[in-house]
Amino acid sequence: MAGRRGLTTLNLTFLGTASAQPSSTRNHSALALRLNADVWLFDCGEATQHQIQRSNVKMGKIEKIFITHTHGDHIFGLLPLLASRLNGAGGTADGVEDPRIHMVQGDPIEIYGPLGTRAYIRNGLTYTHTLLGAPYVVHELRLPSDPSDGDHTSLPPHVSELPNGRNIPQTNGVWPDVYHDNIVSVAAAPILHSVPCVGYVVTEAPVPGKMNPVKYIPDLKRTKTAMSVMSRLQQGESVELSDGTILHGPPRRPGRKLAILGDTYDPSSIAELASSADLLIHEATNAHLPTLDPNTKVEDTFESVEARTKSRGHSTPQMAGAFATRIGARQLVLNHFSARYPGNDHIDPVAKSMMEAIARLGGEHYGGKITCARDFMSFDVNIPEEHV
Ligand SMILES: [Zn+2]
Ligand SMILES: [Zn+2]
Repeated sequence: MAGRRGLTTLNLTFLGTASAQPSSTRNHSALALRLNADVWLFDCGEATQHQIQRSNVKMGKIEKIFITHTHGDHIFGLLPLLASRLNGAGGTADGVEDPRIHMVQGDPIEIYGPLGTRAYIRNGLTYTHTLLGAPYVVHELRLPSDPSDGDHTSLPPHVSELPNGRNIPQTNGVWPDVYHDNIVSVAAAPILHSVPCVGYVVTEAPVPGKMNPVKYIPDLKRTKTAMSVMSRLQQGESVELSDGTILHGPPRRPGRKLAILGDTYDPSSIAELASSADLLIHEATNAHLPTLDPNTKVEDTFESVEARTKSRGHSTPQMAGAFATRIGARQLVLNHFSARYPGNDHIDPVAKSMMEAIARLGGEHYGGKITCARDFMSFDVNIPEEHV
C-alpha cells in the first residue's frame, strides 16, 4: 500500500457548480480535493480542464478521479482531461510509429465510478483514436443489480488501460473500502437520483493529539533526555526515560471527514458512513424564491417546487439542510445549482441576495454554517478544535 505523508493541507476547490446547463458564471460539475500536493477530482464535467487551467489546481498532480454518476454534466470532460493529463495524441501519419500504440509505463491515473464508467472511457478513447502517454485504470462500484464481473462493453481494453481494474461489490448496501492508504480512506454508498449515483466519504486517519510540551520538560531535563523525543510523544508514542519514568504522548484524535455527494433526491443510504462529517457537500439544484427569481411561476409554491425537484432526482436547499442535520455535519456546502442562480454572487448584488436566500432556506432545517459554492471557490478544511 502506498505510503502517504500526513496531511498538512486538505483543500477544496470548486471547478464547476452548475446543474444540467452551464452558464456564463457556472461550469459543469467538478471538484478538486488537494491532499498536500496530490489532487483528487470528484466528477469531471465538460470543460473541466479549462477550469483547471484558470485555477491554481495543477493538472499534472491529478492522481485519482471519482465519478458520482455517468450523466454527461458530470463526465463529459473526462476524456479530454485524460488526453491532456496523460499526454494523449491522435497518432501519426506517414508511417512513423507512435510509441504510444504500445502500453506506456508509469503511475496510472485511477478512476472510480459506477457501472459504465470503464466502458465510456474505453469506447471514447478507442473511437477517437486517442493514444495516451501513460496508463489508467478504472474501478467500478457495482450494484447488486449490475453484473458482478465483466466490463459492460464488447470492446477489448484500450492499450493504455491496465487490466487490474476492480469491480467492487457492495457490503451491507455500501462500499466501505473503495480506497485506503496509511493516511486517508474512501468509502461510498448509493444515493437516489434518476440514474445510479454514488456519494463518497473521504476520511483522514487519526491525527496526533494536542500536546502541551511544557509538562514533559521537567522529566526530560531531570533524566537528561534529548528534547528530540518530543516528536515521538507528539505522535502519541510512550517513551521510557532512563530512570524508568514512562511519558505518554497525547492520544490521537479523529481526522477530518468529508462527504461529497452526487446528484440526489434522497441520500439516506450514505447517512451512516457520512455521520458527523466535518463537511457535507450536497446538491441544491432548485429553490423556491418567489420574490427574487423572475422565472418563478405564479402557481409555484414551496411544495410544488420541491415535488418537481424531487421528480427530476434533485434536492432543494431545505432537503440538503435536513440531511446535514440528520448526519450531524459540522458544515454544509450547497452545490449543483440551476442556471437560474448566478454564480457571481461575490461581485453582483442581485446574485448575492439570491444565493443568500438559498442559504437561508437550507438553514430552515440546519443550524450549522452553510456556504453556497461558486466556481473557483477554494478553502482549506481544517481539523476542528472540537476534535479531541
Ligand atoms: Zn448533475
Ligand atoms: Zn445527474
